[in-house]
Amino acid sequence: MANHKRILSSYTGKLTPAQQKRVDKFIKPGSHKWTAQWSGDNNRILFEITRGKQKLEVNLQQHTCTCNMWQLSGMLCVYAVAAISKLRVRTAEDFVSPLLTMDAVRATYNVCVKPVNSEEFWKEASQPKPDPPRITRPVGRPKKRRSDAAHPPPQPNGDKVRSTFQVTCNKCGKKGALLQDLQGSTFKT
Ligand SMILES: [Zn+2]
Repeated sequence: MANHKRILSSYTGKLTPAQQKRVDKFIKPGSHKWTAQWSGDNNRILFEITRGKQKLEVNLQQHTCTCNMWQLSGMLCVYAVAAISKLRVRTAEDFVSPLLTMDAVRATYNVCVKPVNSEEFWKEASQPKPDPPRITRPVGRPKKRRSDAAHPPPQPNGDKVRSTFQVTCNKCGKKGALLQDLQGSTFKT
């Protein structure tokens, strides 16, 4: 967050850099061959955008276009930019959704995460210390644990599980070497 803030602190544009790039692509002279024609309405908000036989409607007050991109994304489409280019006072940036502007970014990064001291600097609180939860044994047979389900016990004639273990002699009490064999076999020392 701090890095974002530092990078954007010197940026002066109205739109975020990424959104400005998208607008600039449409504004660039010769980037499209669409022609905007004012419909003659009193508010000067309705435009017909044409190229050959194709025609689309743009409404500069409702921020809508026949292609739907403007109303869905808040970002201008090439047709909207063509219509806006007919205006003398306002620029394309004025018609982009406020959510895509630097004001929205600044509002997003307006908060910060405060520094946190490490444990040795913590102060003793007067509140009682929390106790661990009480473990109670429920009535009845214990539930099957998940790990049991994942590793079912070997079947008498089915898959045998390999394991390592040490055998102690019943007579002399000496421990034998680590044995590795298939479970279910019998051992003698
Ligand atoms: Zn459009």
